[in-house]
This record gives sequence, structure tokens and C-alpha cells, in this order.
Amino acid sequence: MIPFVDLKAQYLSIKDEIDSAVLQLLASTQFVLGNEVKSLEEEFANYCNADYGIAVNTGTSALHLALLAVGIGAGDEVITVPFTFVATTAAICYTGATPVFVDIDPVSYTIDINQIEKAITDHTKAILPVHLYGQPADMEPILEIARRYGLTVIEDAAQAHGAEYKGQRVGSIGDIGCFSFYPGKNLGAYGEGGMAVTNNPEYARTMQMLRDWGQERRYHHVLKGYNYRMDGIQGAILRVKLRYIEAWTEARRAYAANYDQLLAESSLTLPRVMPYSRHVYHVYAVRVPSQQRDALQQSLQEQEIQTGIHYPIPVHLQPAYADLGYKLGDFPHSEAASREVLSLPMYAELTTQAQTQVAKAVITSL
Ligand SMILES: *Cc1c(COP(=O)(O)O)cnc(C)c1O
Repeated sequence: MIPFVDLKAQYLSIKDEIDSAVLQLLASTQFVLGNEVKSLEEEFANYCNADYGIAVNTGTSALHLALLAVGIGAGDEVITVPFTFVATTAAICYTGATPVFVDIDPVSYTIDINQIEKAITDHTKAILPVHLYGQPADMEPILEIARRYGLTVIEDAAQAHGAEYKGQRVGSIGDIGCFSFYPGKNLGAYGEGGMAVTNNPEYARTMQMLRDWGQERRYHHVLKGYNYRMDGIQGAILRVKLRYIEAWTEARRAYAANYDQLLAESSLTLPRVMPYSRHVYHVYAVRVPSQQRDALQQSLQEQEIQTGIHYPIPVHLQPAYADLGYKLGDFPHSEAASREVLSLPMYAELTTQAQTQVAKAVITSL
């Protein structure tokens, strides 16, 4: 069987270091926040080329706190895309603000920069681009529009650890960047985790307080806060794994290049790397004509090859968000992508042998 991701293979490749880090953490009894989390914040912020890192319990919490830190609340509108994981939209709703969707560009799968301005109203406060699949959104025009209209920019970098836009690491390009350490992400904890990074000391301080009950110091609550703290054990594990992320990212990129070659002659539309980006391939998504997509996935499953669909229903068509008032046809590129994308196995421990098998199975199934 070729899995979609292989968390076990990765664990086994670094088992001794992880086990010893976990045992040391247990002995330290710093189970919540503590020194390991603090060191992770410094090291991960440094990895993103940002001044501050605020570790939290999930990527969703990072997005929620980032929105609160820049002052988003009830009555405000935040521009984002419907073709993303639901958490992007959920975090906006947590603040009381309204998500306003803009369609994706069908080539990059990230926000269509030419459709942002017409979505701006007097209530718009922020733009929340998603670096989907590990490829950065086109940040320069986004920042330019934000400057012109006085908006803040929060990057959803949950799938894009180490991705670069014109040589600059994502997360430190907008006002705040938000990462997830969910186990299957490019940098995954052994449980839940997330981090917000920023160069703005005010935003950093606000997020530090908000994640820990809004405390300025113990039992002095200056903000209405949350319990969004990161576990010490995740900090210890992520510090070990952060030392490998560049090697793992390069492995993903090499496997992506290999898929590109193996599938070049097929009828599939392969991922396109935009000229500005270092793509980190959280997902290697191919595009299949919609009437063939589900049959291809089924056929691969029968050949013991696991694939994924990211995502089968865009957020504007999810029942939970029907109250936003969107309908089928509102975002044609997001809707088409949701019918046509298929994600092939992609992880640093995938072998070229497994990959060749995947490519053969894809070609013979089409
Ligand atoms: C995973 C993910 C999130 C949420 O992160 P969690 O750690 O699962 O809360 C947000 N946005 C995107 C695009 C994601 O892929």
C-alpha cells in the first residue's frame, strides 16, 4: 500500500532524537508553554525571517488571534478565498466579522488579485490570502492594494512552511503569518499545534496575552483572552523536527519534479509553479476532467494507492456557511477546481520507486 502521507516512516527516521526530547520534557514537567515552546518560538520565527513567534494550540487559533490582534471584530469584513480548508473562514467568523469571498486564480489556486478590489467596501479591514498547497499567493499586488485601502494582510501559511515569495519566506510578508503544526502538515507536531509570526511588537504582545487568558502577568487580565497555549511536549518535538524541515522540503520538491516528468505525457494538468515562488508541495494536486476524477481515485484505491481531494466542496457551498448568502456559480474557478483536483501521495519519505508505481497506475487508469 502507498499511503497519502506516512507519519510513521518519518517518526522512525528521527526516533532516537524525538524519544529523548520527549523524555527530557517529561522530566522537566513544563507541560504547558515553558522553555521548549519559547525556544521553538525563537527558532521558528527565525526560520520565517520574522521577529516574533507566538506558539498556540492550533493553526486555527493562530488565525483567530491574528485577526483579533489587528483589531478585527463584529461589523468588519475580511476578504479571503472559498477554495481553502474551512478553518480560514471559521477563524474570521469567530471574531464576529464577515468573510467576503474572492475567487481563486485557476492556475495558482491562490486568490485572484484582479478580483480583490471590487470586493472592498467601507467595512473591509483585512485581506487573508491562503498559500494553498504550499505555493504563496501573489503577495506584492495584495500588499499594494492593502496599502492603498488601509487594510491589514494576514497570511494563512498553514500549508506553506518555508515557502518563498520572490525570495522572502512566507509568514513575514504580510502583517502576521499563521502556521499549523497539525501532524500531516509540512512541519507536524505529535498532536495539535500552531504559530503566528510577525515583525510588529504590538501585535506580538497582544497575541501573547490573548493566547493565555489575556494576562499581562499572572492573574492580571487586561484583555478577554483564551486558553490557546501550546503544550510543552509539542514544543520539544517541533524543535527536533524543525532541524529537518529544509531537507524534507527539498525531498518534496524533488519528488514533485519527478512527478512532473513521469506525468508529462498524460492528459492531466500538473501543478504550475508561479515564477515568483518557492513551492513547498504540502500537496501535489493534479487536475483531472471532472467526469473522470472520482473514477481515477477509485481505480488508484483499488491498486492500494491513497489519494486526497483538497477540497471537494468550496466553503461558500458548505451548509454551515449558507448564511453568508452565496450560491452555486458565484466562484466558478473554485467550483471547477473542487470537481477536478486530485492530490497524489507526497511526503519526504516517498521513494522514487513508489512514485513510479503511482505514475504508472495513474496513466493506465485514465
Ligand atoms: C490546516 C489548515 C488550517 C488550520 O490549522 P489547524 O492546526 O488544523 O487548526 C488553516 N488553514 C489552512 C489552509 C489549513 O490547511
